[in-house]
Amino acid sequence: MTAEPDGPEDRLRRFATIWSRAVFPVTSTSLTRPELEEQLLPLARRLSEALRARSFEAETPKAVGAALVGAHCTDPDALARSLDCVDAYLVLYCGEDGPQEDLRTRCSRLQHAMAAGFAQKLRERTLAEQEAIAQAALRAQGVVAQALHASEARFRAVFEGAAIGIGIADLQGNILEVNGALVRMFGGGEQAVRGRNVSEWTHADDAPQVWRLYDELVRGEREHYHVEKAFYRPDGTVLWTNLTVSLLRDPDGQPQYQLALMEDTTERRLLNLRLRYEATHDALTGLPNRTLFFERLEKVLAAGEGQRFGLCYLDLDGFKTINDSLGHAAGDRLLVEVADRLQSCATAPGEMVARLGGDEFVALTTGPDTHREVDDLAARIMNALVAPVRIEGRELTVRGSIGIVEGPAGEHSPAEVLRSADITMYRAKSAGGNRFELADPEADARAITRHGLTTALPAALERGEFFIEYQPLVHLGDGSVRGAEALVRWLHPQHGVLGPDRFIPLAEHTGLIVPLGRWVLEQSVRQVGHWRERCGEPGPLRINVNLSPCQLTHPGLVQDTVDILERAGVSPEALCLEVTESALIGADDDLLKPLRRLAEMGVDIALDDFGTGYSNLANLRRLPVSVLKLDRSFTQSMQQFPADPVDLKIVEGIVSLAHSLDLAVTVEGVETGAQAEQLRILGCDTAQGWYYARPGPPDRLHELALVDATG
Ligand code: C2E
Ligand code: CA
Ligand code: CA
Repeated sequence: MTAEPDGPEDRLRRFATIWSRAVFPVTSTSLTRPELEEQLLPLARRLSEALRARSFEAETPKAVGAALVGAHCTDPDALARSLDCVDAYLVLYCGEDGPQEDLRTRCSRLQHAMAAGFAQKLRERTLAEQEAIAQAALRAQGVVAQALHASEARFRAVFEGAAIGIGIADLQGNILEVNGALVRMFGGGEQAVRGRNVSEWTHADDAPQVWRLYDELVRGEREHYHVEKAFYRPDGTVLWTNLTVSLLRDPDGQPQYQLALMEDTTERRLLNLRLRYEATHDALTGLPNRTLFFERLEKVLAAGEGQRFGLCYLDLDGFKTINDSLGHAAGDRLLVEVADRLQSCATAPGEMVARLGGDEFVALTTGPDTHREVDDLAARIMNALVAPVRIEGRELTVRGSIGIVEGPAGEHSPAEVLRSADITMYRAKSAGGNRFELADPEADARAITRHGLTTALPAALERGEFFIEYQPLVHLGDGSVRGAEALVRWLHPQHGVLGPDRFIPLAEHTGLIVPLGRWVLEQSVRQVGHWRERCGEPGPLRINVNLSPCQLTHPGLVQDTVDILERAGVSPEALCLEVTESALIGADDDLLKPLRRLAEMGVDIALDDFGTGYSNLANLRRLPVSVLKLDRSFTQSMQQFPADPVDLKIVEGIVSLAHSLDLAVTVEGVETGAQAEQLRILGCDTAQGWYYARPGPPDRLHELALVDATG
């Protein structure tokens, strides 16, 4: 039992354990470590879900950050340790087999959102505390005023025992009384406060209203005010306070004293600054992060008439290869070096560099004349990357692709601008990389679907957005249904049903075709198993599944296929794999080996789209192929009646050659009865096309086959 591999739940639990161990030492709770782990487990689950969610959504990780504050993990170290833990282990334990690159980017965004949520929650809590203190201050004012008139002793008790600093001054600002807490805030020396005048306590960071409110109060025009104020301590350090000042009147109602209540917020303020810094900067490179960049871009785009912006979106070429071959540590050092170089490119006022995540950076320039400036900026960046980077004794050449967007403020949202830059960068990359391209709205529109579809593909497979339609294969001799070809479709949440021509090339390009193809094979084989159980006549149904060239070269092809057949309890004879002619042209023995092994097991291999490539017919002999699928173009030429005699001759020739090589011939794209008849006369064995049925749900085929068998 112990040898069983961990399930997702076990891994999630392991992550929560590690997390609890990391933060437990710095929490201020009465919980035990295992109890804390129980509290962190649901948070871990939410992070894990957010990591793998279809689209990034900051609310969940923000809520997790906030929940940390709720769980008494308010120490800044608790946040830092949590972020470290997420950084090091979340993808490892909860990333499953998703694309690592995307998961890493997603993971760093999660951390930023977590930090932001943490900071925000802490701020809210601070505000709530301040509110409570202000309430207490008002109550204290009543008590103190009373005490002043009543008993000096009782006043002393309230005054000295208070945890917050209390001071009393006359209306000229001379400080008459201070309590111990206040003295301690100023560093402990009585002389630092007693006997001084309030007016000496100006500070460079005083908000403009601080002294206006003070004047109003001492003139008797206001009863109290509340501000945040800094003071210099005698040792030169700064004390930050929440200051509440109230006017004390004598029994006749005449202004007499001012009473100050102050709470030391220095620590909390530093913490907030640090949190703000952490939430807005990239831990690896120290550059502003996505959050800060968005804030900045938002401001820039909201600027008035005449203001323009220019943005360079940089993505390193081949960074993944470096990371994979030299390791993450080397990858990190490269990123730090690149960050430093970028920073030195954008030093003018109005310029900024940020890291968006992974190997993506942005440089922003603003002002009235960004048109020229942004080109210069991009050129400077390309230049800065020219010199190789030395890491671990190697000289690494760094290249990048830049997408440039430039324009007037006030026309687009930050997200639109960034997307446009991203697409443009993608265009620069597809053109070979190591270059910059300027955004072009028309090219963008064309690229959007392509780019959008590509990025949506992996999640689409996880979310089950693909489905398969089956198109019957009919025996030309007796018209019976012999099987079907599986044709995959994508039910895209925005674009509706997309045909394979829209996304198969993208899936091939990104490598997703391997898991997608495996999924299609698995579904189709299971489906043919069901059909075979339900209708035996007139002969067992078979399934044709398309294979992309990339699947052919994938080392797991044979084993995966064997496993899939075994698991579904379907014999190899029920399966026909379709490979395009072009994929096998010039194929060497290595490439053919897996196909040959499958053919030896009894799987049929069909040469798809035959006649579109230039395979030497004699060459067919050395391919492990048992079916020729004539391309639709042959059928199309038989649309007219009578058909072109030359075409007929060609097809006749192919059919007789195929038969002499023991190959069956299937024709595609049969749309009319006349075509079907013609092809039958020419000796073709099976046909497929709209004349018989369009591709459709699996039950349709079952019905067709059944009608056949009974009727
Ligand atoms: P294909 O293998 O040549 O598939 C036949 C295509 O012809 C299908 O288009 C089918 O819907 C269409 N068709 C069928 N009968 C007729 C007809 O009478 N007239 C006309 N005009 N067309 C007909 P579909 O479904 O758009 O598939 C396009 C291509 O996508 C397929 O061409 C195949 O190469 C590829 N494909 C489909 N599913 C998969 C898959 O699961 N894996 C891979 N690698 N490729 C797939
Ligand atoms: Ca096919
Ligand atoms: Ca075909």
